[in-house]
Amino acid sequence: MRIPAISAHARAIDEDNLRRIRWVGLALPLLNLVYMVLLQPADDSTPQVLLWQQTLQRLHLAMALVFTVVGLGAHGLLRLPSAPPLLRRIWPPLTATLALGFTLAFAATDQLVGGNIAAFLLGCVITAVLVVMHPLVSALLYAAVLAGFWIALGALQRDPVALLANQLNGSSGAALGWMLSALTWRQQLQYKALLQRLQQSATTDDLTGLANRAETVRLVNEELARGLRYGQPTSVLLLDLDHFKQVNDRLGHPGGDRVLQHAALALTQTVRTHDRVGRLGGEEFLVLLPQTDAAAAAHLAERLRLHVAQALQEFGGVTCSIGLVTTGARDASGFDPLYLQADQALYRAKRAGRNCCAAAL
Ligand code: GH3
Ligand code: MG
Ligand code: MG
Repeated sequence: MRIPAISAHARAIDEDNLRRIRWVGLALPLLNLVYMVLLQPADDSTPQVLLWQQTLQRLHLAMALVFTVVGLGAHGLLRLPSAPPLLRRIWPPLTATLALGFTLAFAATDQLVGGNIAAFLLGCVITAVLVVMHPLVSALLYAAVLAGFWIALGALQRDPVALLANQLNGSSGAALGWMLSALTWRQQLQYKALLQRLQQSATTDDLTGLANRAETVRLVNEELARGLRYGQPTSVLLLDLDHFKQVNDRLGHPGGDRVLQHAALALTQTVRTHDRVGRLGGEEFLVLLPQTDAAAAAHLAERLRLHVAQALQEFGGVTCSIGLVTTGARDASGFDPLYLQADQALYRAKRAGRNCCAAAL
């Protein structure tokens, strides 16, 4: 797979990560508070148990504070499109590092009162579900936390049997966490690629690569709503190739297809950056001109007519007719009424002898 595709999908995965982190930043501190209440020391606690409870309480308090900041940070990164991309990339692995760090601290503290490492095992799996990372990054992270786990247990666990069992189980937990993380990464990449392909085929015309009819209708409606909101005119050109049936008869359908492809290319090469071109069907194209009044639309229509005719010269001189319509800055409109007006204008251009433009009355 090409690198740009991976990075585009990786960015999408990071967005999903940030959304999950935002929710965890909201929910986890509440859970921490519940744990802090449950870990309230009893009057008859032994000094060892007291130390264990107090340490866990402090860890839960620290975790609540840290994850509130982490969650707010994720919220900010999602809300601010101008946020530094590097921060957006770093935030998920940073969150995973913190989660695994707390996991390790909980498991180490539990060694004060026995040999429980459930916190570490759970933490490894939950972190893998929460933050989806590149397998290399997660391998480094899980390896580092496992090294810390071995060192902490070596220092705190006095029972050699419990120490060995915990180190082995902890290693399995870290390995499981990493495998889960790597598998999820792979699946997410495949899912994003599939989604992109589906989106592409649902919105693109196969033959010309232009927006298909459904996408064109969506774009027009979106632009009309935007134009109305900002009080700006929107223009639409309906372009139809002249006597295309005869072109097919002359060149055959594959030849006609090539004419359509050349026409599409000529259109996209002539319009401005923010203009959009779609194929409504057959040899009929729509050009959407945002923030364009009737005079500018008429000027562009004439330019398009000439460029298309020029580009299709090699096919024996194929021309086109164009109907154009402009919405007023305050007119509420949708695709259908606009299409009807543009179509009527197009028919007037056809009746006027073809190879010309006509504006809606
Ligand atoms: P007018 O100047 O009045 O527009 O005449 P016309 O012949 O262009 O219009 P008409 O609607 O009668 O014919 C359109 C033709 O376009 C008929 C159809 O076979 C052809 N057509 C539609 N879709 C495709 C396509 O995808 N490829 C090819 N090669 N031809 C197509
Ligand atoms: Mg035609
Ligand atoms: Mg037609």
